[in-house]
Amino acid sequence: MLSLEQIKGIGPSSIKLLNKIGIKSVEDLINNIPRKYEDYSNVLKISKIRPGSVTIKARIHSVTKRYSRKGLHMTEALASDDSGSVKLMWFNQPYRASSLKKDEDYYISGEFAPSYKYLSIQNPSVELVSSFPINTARIVPQYKLTKGLSSNNIRKFTKLAFDKTKINETLPNWLIEEYSLISRDKALFHMHFPSTFKDMDEAKKRIGFEEVFELSLASELNKREFSKNNGLKIPISEKEIVEFVSKLPYKLTDDQRKATWQILLDMSSGVPMNRLLEGDVGSGKTIVALISAINALNSGYQTAIMAPTEILASQHFNTIKNLLPNKLKDKVILLSGQLKLNDKKKAQAEIENGKSLIIIGTHALIQDKIKFKNLGYVVIDEQHRFGVEQRKLLQSKADVMPHVLNMSATPIPRSIALTLYGELEITILAEKPAGRQTVNTEVINPEQRLNLYKSLDSKLANGEQTFIVCPLITDDVTAGRSLSVENISKQVKQWLPKHEITVIHGKMKSEEKDKIMHDFKNGAIKILVSTTVIEVGVDIPNATTMIIEGADKFGLAQLHQLRGRIGRGDKPGACYLIPTDSDGFSRRLKYIEKIYDGFKLADYDLEMRGPGAIYGTVQHGALDLRVAKLTDTKLIALARKAANQYILKNENLLQYPELKARVDRLRTITNLN
Ligand code: ADP
Ligand code: MG
Repeated sequence: MLSLEQIKGIGPSSIKLLNKIGIKSVEDLINNIPRKYEDYSNVLKISKIRPGSVTIKARIHSVTKRYSRKGLHMTEALASDDSGSVKLMWFNQPYRASSLKKDEDYYISGEFAPSYKYLSIQNPSVELVSSFPINTARIVPQYKLTKGLSSNNIRKFTKLAFDKTKINETLPNWLIEEYSLISRDKALFHMHFPSTFKDMDEAKKRIGFEEVFELSLASELNKREFSKNNGLKIPISEKEIVEFVSKLPYKLTDDQRKATWQILLDMSSGVPMNRLLEGDVGSGKTIVALISAINALNSGYQTAIMAPTEILASQHFNTIKNLLPNKLKDKVILLSGQLKLNDKKKAQAEIENGKSLIIIGTHALIQDKIKFKNLGYVVIDEQHRFGVEQRKLLQSKADVMPHVLNMSATPIPRSIALTLYGELEITILAEKPAGRQTVNTEVINPEQRLNLYKSLDSKLANGEQTFIVCPLITDDVTAGRSLSVENISKQVKQWLPKHEITVIHGKMKSEEKDKIMHDFKNGAIKILVSTTVIEVGVDIPNATTMIIEGADKFGLAQLHQLRGRIGRGDKPGACYLIPTDSDGFSRRLKYIEKIYDGFKLADYDLEMRGPGAIYGTVQHGALDLRVAKLTDTKLIALARKAANQYILKNENLLQYPELKARVDRLRTITNLN
């Protein structure tokens, strides 16, 4: 393909501006999907136009310029066709007059509306009549812009790019036919310049299909490549496991049983497991990981459990140590960044010589100097908190591809999980352990805030702790009420003068955050004002209250995760949601008062607000789909099916270099192997 420089009509200064919005090549220009469209396709006679968006085909004359009484520059003109005349008006566009050619025929598109007592078409786009207008008299694409670059410019450049470029097909014929798609060149062209809405729909279908197809192909290829690895056959040590489970202080839920059994089967199959265990906060994922780790241990294999923070790692360590029978207690070790040098060396040695069989830690586990003896099983807690590279590094410490369990508390609806994590087998823990406390949730009118905060006084005096969550770190000034950590913490200080207030947010160093969370956990800190950084999964028995400011700014699933951090002891938790203003008393927030199920909430938000609502909780490169909608389950199912057929037919990706390049890129983004 040509470079932008090679296209006559795109100058160096335009190239700079295009670069600014991420368009670095002709390919980028062509793939720059419009943000939206305006319909100016209906060309009317002047006598027929009514207020609203209109397009006419008319001759322009009587062009004049003047300043209004208020000092506004105005260009006025008259446009006439055989049915009548209409006034055109441009405000503050002094260059207009000289660019208009008198007595020529133009397409003119704009808002027909009253101004200065009479109706005129205001700030219209005009272009000389031609067989292929791009700014008027059609369905007009609107683009993401930057200062100095208009949609008109981009349309012009895009059209030039299409004139000079041959666009290759990237899908085989059988697939295009079977799924009734249009060709790639037509689809891309119609994405920008559809003649009809049908054109546009067909284009969206093809491009959206292609996006999900590529994503599915990438994850399917990853999955196949992964399963080609020789895996360890770790037999199921049924007797020991039954005994361990029978001594647990609680009865496993059915879902926990099923998930555990599935994992044990995977481990014994000889194909490396790569599984996502998805379960709401408190659904009891840790014990599933532990039972399978004990199974590995019984065959002499080491398990590495990696958690995103020191505090979570040490919590796992304590939980696990407590649950293990005495004879195994010295097989588990915590590799903490806080260990003294000598202890660290000792820990390293025990990992390396195989004395330790269950090794728990943070990123510390992936350091070069950490060597395992016989690593057979890798558990990644809160998997979305780790990058691909980090997960891979840990796996690479095993001699043979280990079994991998990814755990996540993010309630991603199944349809979306399948698209995003296609290379993983997915297990969902839907059931909560019986007798689990729910957190009483109430939406509070902002006017009642002061009362609410004052009511904390006696609870705090009682030794209970409070989280206050805000949507921002610092002020973004304007809005009447500021909901930043900075500002709320100042206010709360005035309202609760007897208590000390600590602040935590994402801009702090992780050691600092760890220390604060640690102090909060052991009760040294009573009130924590924070952003959403507060740790998922940490047990703080005395944290009974959570106030969420600007609650309408969060996704429901995210609110649910936040409130999951309280009420984890024997005292019940109370969560108060304060919307930004009284208008925020929406059905959405009312829904979370009643529903205590992360998956239901995620589904509801998906319907109400689209996938954007769950972006807050998931970070995934594949989410920047441009055309396909993750809610379009039909399209997703078709594209996934097509990807599987493609692989079964042994299509050679090398035939389609552009497709290959894109799929390769996606493989590195989505790769969870
Ligand atoms: P998460 O899935 O959020 O990681 P955890 O594994 O931390 O959840 O479990 C949350 C709490 O529930 C822990 O205190 C654990 O001991 C307890 N738990 C786990 N399974 C059960 C069960 N079947 N019955 C009762 N309590 C359970
Ligand atoms: Mg957990």
